[in-house]
This record gives sequence, C-alpha cells and structure tokens, in this order.
Amino acid sequence: MEIRLMLDNTIYPEELDKDDFFKDRLYEEDFLGFYFRRKFAPGVVIANRMADIAFEEARGKFELEKIAVVCETDFCIPDALSAKLGVTVGNRYLKVLDWQIMGFTVYDYLHGRGVRVWVDSEKVRKNGGVFERWYFRKTTKAERKDRKVRWKMGVEVLREFLKSPRDYLSWSLVKVANWLIGKAPIKEVKECPKCHITYTCEGDVCPVCAGKGYFEVLS
Ligand SMILES: [Zn+2]
Repeated sequence: MEIRLMLDNTIYPEELDKDDFFKDRLYEEDFLGFYFRRKFAPGVVIANRMADIAFEEARGKFELEKIAVVCETDFCIPDALSAKLGVTVGNRYLKVLDWQIMGFTVYDYLHGRGVRVWVDSEKVRKNGGVFERWYFRKTTKAERKDRKVRWKMGVEVLREFLKSPRDYLSWSLVKVANWLIGKAPIKEVKECPKCHITYTCEGDVCPVCAGKGYFEVLS
C-alpha cells in the first residue's frame, strides 16, 4: 500500500519527502496516520514509535497477540494507534482516558500483560531544543496559529525525536486491571418504557429519559 501517493502537501509538509533524514525514519503507517487525521501531526509519529518500543520490550517476555490499548489521553494519540494497530473505540480494543498524559499501554487482552510507554518529562527537559518547547506548550502564537510555521516546528520536533526516540520515553512492563482482560461481555438489550429506544447501559429508562440528554429537541 502506497498511502503516501494518496496524500498531497495540504496534508503534510513537503520537507518530509525532500529531506533524506526522514526517508528511512518515517514509515507508511505514519502517513496512514496523517491521512486518518487529514493533517500532519508530530504526535502521530511519536505514538507510532512508542508502540514499536512496547512490542520490542515485550519480545521474549510474553506474546502481544490479541492486542488492546489503554490510551491515557484523548488527544491525537488514539487516532495514530487506530491507524497503526487496528484498535478502535468501535471494536472495543481501544480504551481512551481523558487524563492528557502522553502515554499508553499496549497489552494482550487474553492474559493482560503489556508494556506502558510514556513521554518522560525529565528526559525531555534534559534534551531541550524544539521538542521541549513543543511538549511543554511554550510555543509562540505563530507556531500555534500559522500552519506553515506550525508545520516547520513539527518537522523539527520530529527531527530531534527520531534521532533517538528512547531518549524521550520511559516504559515498564505491567499487568492491566481485570476489567480490561477478556472480551467485553454482551449485555442484555432493554427497551426504554418512555421513548422505546433500545439500550444496554444501567437504568430502568434510557439515559435521555433519565435526564442525562446532551441536546434539546428543536421544533
Ligand atoms: Zn427513553
């Protein structure tokens, strides 16, 4: 699959194609991630290398065959892992927490053992450079608002990171909590006695009729 050919420079900066540094350091899955998000984001590449480390660290210790992921941020990284690993919110193998920690655990949902990988603030600070400014959100207004300037910074963030991803990350072997092990049970379908919509969550009426609605009906 040559996903790169499907993309143009409205999706990612042309420096990534022109610069020899990136030739052997970016993979199809990175471009697949950009395509999935419909834009360039350094976090996609960082998440992909973090996942690579999870698999490398598990090698020889346990199998990572039936893959599931708990992602500790809902920002950017879940999209990259969906594109790379096929774990999605929809297939239930991706759980997303809104802690905004740049970290996640890749594990096997049959035995629960896995590897947690995260961006290590101390290592980031030690390395300094553009990555440190980007990671701690000490960017200029132009770097946040102007796409060309933002992309230029993103390219430099990746140039620093991809020289040695492990110099920015930490990891540990973990076993996930029991509720994350095994396939999610199929729940009984209930019909709401008020609105007759079917649902499987807790409660005698559906969440909307229980007053948890996120909308008001327009006439
Ligand atoms: Zn209802």
